[in-house]
Amino acid sequence: METPSQTRGPDQVPAGERPSYDVVIVGGGAAGITTAAELRRHRPALSVAIIEPSETHAYQPGWTLVGAGVFTLRQTIRQESSLIPPGVTWLRAAAAAFQPEANAVELADGRHVGYRFLVVCPGLQLDWDKVAGLREALGKNGVCSNYSAESVEYTWQCVQALRGGTALFTQPPMPIKCAGAPQKIMYLTADHLRGHGRLKDTKIEFCLAGDVLFGVPFFVPPLQKTVDRYGIAVNYKWNLKAVDGPARKAIFATTGADGSTTEVVRDFDMLHVTPPQSAPDFIKRSPLANPGGWVEVDAATLRHTRFDNVFALGDAAGTTNTKTAAAVRLQAPVVVRNLLAAADRRDPASAYDGYGSCPLTTGYGEVVLAEFGYGGKVMPSFPLDPRVPRRSAWLLKTKFLPMLYWRFMLRGSEIDIRHKERSFAA
Ligand SMILES: Cc1cc2nc3c(=O)[nH]c(=O)nc-3n(C[C@H](O)[C@H](O)[C@H](O)COP(=O)(O)OP(=O)(O)OC[C@H]3O[C@@H](n4cnc5c(N)ncnc54)[C@H](O)[C@@H]3O)c2cc1C
Repeated sequence: METPSQTRGPDQVPAGERPSYDVVIVGGGAAGITTAAELRRHRPALSVAIIEPSETHAYQPGWTLVGAGVFTLRQTIRQESSLIPPGVTWLRAAAAAFQPEANAVELADGRHVGYRFLVVCPGLQLDWDKVAGLREALGKNGVCSNYSAESVEYTWQCVQALRGGTALFTQPPMPIKCAGAPQKIMYLTADHLRGHGRLKDTKIEFCLAGDVLFGVPFFVPPLQKTVDRYGIAVNYKWNLKAVDGPARKAIFATTGADGSTTEVVRDFDMLHVTPPQSAPDFIKRSPLANPGGWVEVDAATLRHTRFDNVFALGDAAGTTNTKTAAAVRLQAPVVVRNLLAAADRRDPASAYDGYGSCPLTTGYGEVVLAEFGYGGKVMPSFPLDPRVPRRSAWLLKTKFLPMLYWRFMLRGSEIDIRHKERSFAA
C-alpha cells in the first residue's frame, strides 16, 4: 500500500503499473470529495485515491439560481485541484470497469488501480439523446436547461427575453437529481414575468411524465397553491419525446386514463427541459449494479450487498432517497464510519435514514424547504411548518447552504443541522 507521504499526482503513475490504495473513490464530485476529506480527518494514515476525469467541480444546487439570474455560473465552479483534500491522490482519468473479485478498477486509458476498499460515487448520467433532436436544439431557439453548465446561462437569457406566448417546463420519469428542480425554475420564471407585467401574456405549462406534482404528498398543497397563484397549467403523464428547435415545437407522448398513448405537439416560445436520467453506463454494465442499473447497496449501511469492501453514495447509489447534495452530506459520514468499521473487522453500525432536501424556490425571496427521508418521512431542520414559503429559507438556499458546502462539507466537517424533534409528521 502507498502511504500518504508517497502519494503521487495523476500523471506520475506510469502506464502498466498497478498502483494500490487503501481506499479508491470513483468520482470526485460532491460525494467523492466529501468522503475523501472525512476519511482523511478520521484516519490520516490511510492512502486514498480519487478517480475523477474533470478539471472542475460545480455546485449544481446553485444552477437553479444561475438560470434565474441570481448567481453567475462562475460562482458555482471551482478547480478540482483546489478541492482534492491534502494527502489524497487524484487520478485524473475516467473509471471504465470494475473487477470486484480482483479488487481492481479499470480506467478508460487501460490502466488498473487496486484497492482494499472501494467507494463508488460517479453521479448519474444525463440521457440527452433519449429525446430526439434535443442535443442539437439546446442553447438556441428558446430551448434551455438548468441541468448542464453549457446551457444554464441560456436559461436566464430565455427568461429575460420572454415577452409572452408559451413557456413549457418538462420533467422526465423519476428518478432524477433534485426532483424539485424542474419546477423551481418554473416558479422563478413565473415570478420574474409577474414582476415585469408579462405573466398575463404568457401561458406556462408544466409537462411531467409522472402523475403527481411532488413525490412527497405532504409538500403537494403548498406547491399546488403556487401553481394556482401563477396560473400554471399542469399536464400529467406528458413525456417529452422530441424537440424541433428551429420550428419551436415540442413533441410529447401522453398517456390517457385508459392507458392509451397519444402524441401531442406543442408550440413554444421557451422550453426548459429536464433531461431523462439514469445510472452511468459503466455502472449499469458492471457487476456492482442492481437490476435498475444503480450500485446495489444496503439502504441503511450503504455497503454493497454482495461485495463487503464496496460502498456507494450520492446519485449513483441504488437507494430510494431523493438524489441531492443534502443527501450526500448525511451519507458520507455513514460510509466513512462503516468503511472504517469494516477495516477494523467490526460490523457496520452507522445507518443512513434517507434524508434529502429540496429547497423549492416558489418565488424570488421565498422557499418551501422540503426535507424528508425514506418513505417520504418529513424531517424538518427547524421547528417551523416546512410547508410555508419563507424568506429565511431563501437566505438558507442562497447564502448559508453554498457556504456550508464549500467551507465545511467538502472539507470533511460532518455537519447535521437537523432539528432533532420532528414535529411535522407526514
Ligand atoms: C439543476 C440542479 C439543481 C439541484 N438542486 C439541488 C438542491 O437544491 N439541493 C441539493 O441538495 N441538491 C441539488 N442538486 C443535486 C446535487 O447537485 C447532486 O445530487 C449531487 O451533486 C450529487 O453528488 P454526486 O457526487 O453523487 O454527483 P456529482 O456531484 O455529479 O459528481 C459526480 C462526479 O463523478 C465524476 N464521474 C463521472 N463519470 C466518471 C467516471 N467514469 N469515472 C470517474 N469519475 C466519474 C463526474 O465528473 C463528477 O465529478 C441539483 C442538481 C441540479 C443539476
